[in-house]
Amino acid sequence: MDRVSRYTPPIADQRFLLEHVLDGPALLKLPAYRHVDWPTVTHVLDQAGRLASDILAPINARGDEQPSRLADGRVITSPGYVEAYRAFAEGGWIGLDMPVAQGGQGLPLVVQNAFAEMVNGACVAFGMLPLMQRAAARLLMAHGSASLIDTFVPRLVAGDWGATICISEPQAGSDVGRIATRAELGDDGLWRVTGTKIFITYGDQDLTPMIAHLLLARTPGAPAGTRGLSLFVVPSHRLGADGAIGETNGVAATRVEHKMGLKGSPTCVMNFDGALAYPVGEPGTGMRCMFTMVNTMRLEVAMQGVAVAGAATARALEYAAERRQGGPAGQPPLPLASHPDVRSMLLEMRALSEGFRALVLQAAYSLDLAHASENPEERRRSLALAEWLLPVCKAAGSDAGFRVANLAVQVFGGHGYISDSGVEQYVRDARVMSIYEGANGIQAIDLVTRKLGAEGGQRFRLFAEAIASDLDAHRSACPALAGSLEAALADLRAASDWLLAHVATAPQACEAGARPYLDLVALVAIGWMWLRLAAADPENARGKQAIALFVGEQLLPASALLRQRACAGATALGMLSLEELCRYPA
Ligand SMILES: Cc1cc2nc3c(=O)[nH]c(=O)nc-3n(C[C@H](O)[C@H](O)[C@H](O)COP(=O)(O)OP(=O)(O)OC[C@H]3O[C@@H](n4cnc5c(N)ncnc54)[C@H](O)[C@@H]3O)c2cc1C
Repeated sequence: MDRVSRYTPPIADQRFLLEHVLDGPALLKLPAYRHVDWPTVTHVLDQAGRLASDILAPINARGDEQPSRLADGRVITSPGYVEAYRAFAEGGWIGLDMPVAQGGQGLPLVVQNAFAEMVNGACVAFGMLPLMQRAAARLLMAHGSASLIDTFVPRLVAGDWGATICISEPQAGSDVGRIATRAELGDDGLWRVTGTKIFITYGDQDLTPMIAHLLLARTPGAPAGTRGLSLFVVPSHRLGADGAIGETNGVAATRVEHKMGLKGSPTCVMNFDGALAYPVGEPGTGMRCMFTMVNTMRLEVAMQGVAVAGAATARALEYAAERRQGGPAGQPPLPLASHPDVRSMLLEMRALSEGFRALVLQAAYSLDLAHASENPEERRRSLALAEWLLPVCKAAGSDAGFRVANLAVQVFGGHGYISDSGVEQYVRDARVMSIYEGANGIQAIDLVTRKLGAEGGQRFRLFAEAIASDLDAHRSACPALAGSLEAALADLRAASDWLLAHVATAPQACEAGARPYLDLVALVAIGWMWLRLAAADPENARGKQAIALFVGEQLLPASALLRQRACAGATALGMLSLEELCRYPA
């Protein structure tokens, strides 16, 4: 049997969310989006669904079976990638939310995010490249000189040139401040970078003739740590004055990693040997500028988690309706979906995939308002909510992708463990999402040590107030869920107070509690989304009321345990010395 490699785009659910839970059509009345009407958005989503299911889904299994590879110093992508990329770029898909002046379509980010779910649900390994092209274009538009913007952005948006994010080095993973790649200014007034970067996604490929590497490096005499880092754009090939592509620029992929999943996406060791580099932003501001790219990518990694969760859920629902096992002897066997344990798995899968879909789209929608609202107070509040949600979406969304993919394998039983099912690939592909773009543990520390207390705790306050207000407005939509959500919100308020009271005096205790705290925030956020989903589906036509009840009964009660873990302190963690802890009692 050939490997199953197909994808059902969740267009109806996305439209339900955009039209009935978030007010998508209202966004289009803002001056920034007046050139777009709602029928155009729905047409775009329909076309995107076709692209995902017809062009991208078929290359998903092929990329897994025949990974990208290095041959004669160049990366060759998996079979079908060149053709799929051409269709993608020619269709104008990279620039969906990019400014019209740069060749984009100027659609809201929330629409782009819905599109990103379809791309990543069909083939997440492919989706990494357009993600970096968009993120690099955003970075350059925010921090680059006019000439860099003119040279790079339209070509990235059109898909003529590729892009990478070059941060990681062997000694500098989460600890970005240890980057050692050097940038030096020559007597000719030009910058050159020298060093080795590892794990660089699409560091080389055969899809575009030029790649723009967005790279962090240290300049001579710069202070240690992240304050000494500067940002450069390093083209893979020399650029003529007219933008023409010349000889190679001292940039080479020296290795493509063999890895657990995401095999179609080349993960490269990159060598920079005196490569000409163009500064982006002021010296020493590299980390701050790079965050424009990183934050764009974090939101989409959250969507990658949703995408894999959604794709795996669709497959599991279909299988559980068809496959028959169990039931009374002498009677025909029953569909898997009739057994309570399988039902519980399916409901959890829907609760997580649809709940996180709503949450990530909410974060994108808030960013749209932060950018485009005509009301300064609404802009401020929307930005604060989006900043609060971003680490939560990145970490909990990626974890949900893995959890749901794993449940899908369980629903498929032994058949899910067999590669032909196409389901075990979801587990392997999703695993890295909790690691890259800032490991999830680091996201949790960021949430507790930076986001929670900053600006008088206003981000958390806005989040909690929005939930309290929706509890008042929508309690009757699902009273059982509302009761559990109220209790979970009380647990979250208590954990937040405890962490705020200890963050200065007992930082170790707070870091120890950061992970369960982030999980608690995510749980409450998902409960919030489900209250709104239930309210938007009063007749239960889309099954939202039933899942909301499941969330209230089965998921939200975990808040009490998470609160306890978040506030437990670090005594148990600190009891063993380093040596005692790391000695396995063999
Ligand atoms: C498939 C793939 C693609 C990638 N693509 C890119 C790319 O395109 N560009 C790029 O620059 N990088 C890329 N990366 C690198 C990725 O961003 C790093 O792997 C990630 O930042 C973690 O760094 P590390 O692997 O060195 O792990 P480490 O930093 O060694 O971390 C290991 C574990 O320790 C924890 N940890 C580390 N420090 C702390 C701390 N201070 N406090 C608490 N916990 C801590 C982490 O949370 C993690 O769980 C990619 C990686 C992979 C696997």
